[in-house]
Amino acid sequence: MDDTKTMQASDHAHYLHPFTDHKALGERGVRVMVRGEGIYLWDSEGKKILDGMSGLWCVNLGYGRHSISKAVFEQMETLPFYNSFFNTTNVPAVKLAEKLARIAPPGFEHVFFTGSGSEANDTNVRMVRRYWDLKGQPQRHTIISRFNAYHGSTMAGASLGGMEGMHAQGGLPIPGIVHIRQPNYLEAGRGMSEDEFGIEAASWLEEKILDVGPEKVAAFIGEPIQGAGGVVIPPSTYWPEIQRICDKYGILIIADEVITGFGRTGQMFASELFGIKPDLITFAKGVTSGYIPLGGVLVGERVAEVLIGQGGEFAHGFTYSGHPVACAAALESIRILEEEKIVQRVREDTGPYLAQRFATLSDHPLVGYANSCGFVAGLNLVRRKGPTIHGHEYFDPKLEVGMVCRGYMFNNGMIMRAVGDRMIIAPPLIMTRGQIDEMVALIRRCLDDTY
Ligand code: PLP
Repeated sequence: MDDTKTMQASDHAHYLHPFTDHKALGERGVRVMVRGEGIYLWDSEGKKILDGMSGLWCVNLGYGRHSISKAVFEQMETLPFYNSFFNTTNVPAVKLAEKLARIAPPGFEHVFFTGSGSEANDTNVRMVRRYWDLKGQPQRHTIISRFNAYHGSTMAGASLGGMEGMHAQGGLPIPGIVHIRQPNYLEAGRGMSEDEFGIEAASWLEEKILDVGPEKVAAFIGEPIQGAGGVVIPPSTYWPEIQRICDKYGILIIADEVITGFGRTGQMFASELFGIKPDLITFAKGVTSGYIPLGGVLVGERVAEVLIGQGGEFAHGFTYSGHPVACAAALESIRILEEEKIVQRVREDTGPYLAQRFATLSDHPLVGYANSCGFVAGLNLVRRKGPTIHGHEYFDPKLEVGMVCRGYMFNNGMIMRAVGDRMIIAPPLIMTRGQIDEMVALIRRCLDDTY
């Protein structure tokens, strides 16, 4: 095998990585991953690493699932590609569409396939605007999203997203997309109970609707739990109030379940957990456990009826919409999820266990706040603890303590992500209780050493 230095030099010479400072990476030296098994990865130097992020929130079933690679291989041998345009379909795409309709929340009988979560959110933008055009309300054009949301990297995806760094590059957001604040209790909930704060944070949506003009608002989009924004778990009052407000003004709801779909919260879709009745659900990542790119939109009846009944051709689609190999991988991933009762285990056993073990970290002097939901969790690093969670003293952001911690974790055998000074995890859903113990011990050791 090529040695690490050769790989690094070649990488730097030719490979522009996503979300990466190329020059700085060249100086630092990229890490080369070569193999995965279960919840562990191995790099080119033979180091074993516990993957606390399921790759990029996607390898929910862990690495080395032979039956997925077999399904992919067999489909490649049978029919590696045929498009879904021009009156054709393929067997895995049909089967997957039917399967998704069976496992989705009630009222979702149709699916539109894409190659990624970003493309799926672009599809949402076009679909909701098409819906309102067909309803004779073309002025309903504006989509409301949230700051710090992540909805992808395409022009529409990044515009829906609320990442300042992304908006600052390339003239985003595109017209007709506006943002409200995220329901971050730690940031904005001082003086309120979590439940009170949930109602308060939802009221920002109503303010924005009134500001834009209710007759001009097409949809609200949100991740049930904001992932890349730092695992922001909303108070239980937040989503029901959002639902009430959207119902009041007839606004569509798009639940972006790219991270939360396929069991991460202990429900197949987190909309079920938070009491959201979305009109459209974005999915990607976990649908194939990340083994092959695939995304899509689950289309609820309200939209499907109009789109199909009155719409004629929806002039939108991708070469790889309904790619047979990706759909075969998804069918096998969902079969495994069901056969091994993984979602149920996260809900009833390993999720609550992770919550309990992860919460023990909050006794550490560096940890101001630790919370989780199913198999996503996060903790906030603080310089000095205050008497309440709103009274902590934080590190100077310039010190980038989270990044220091992340680097240290990696060198000590675990992948954890840093969003500012919030350290987050989203481990593979197959993790056992013993592996949860191992992970929490690794995190504690890292915190001890950083302290
Ligand atoms: N939506 C959410 C909530 C995501 O977390 C992501 C990716 O992390 C996306 C959309 C974009 O998906 P993709 O990277 O497959 O385009």
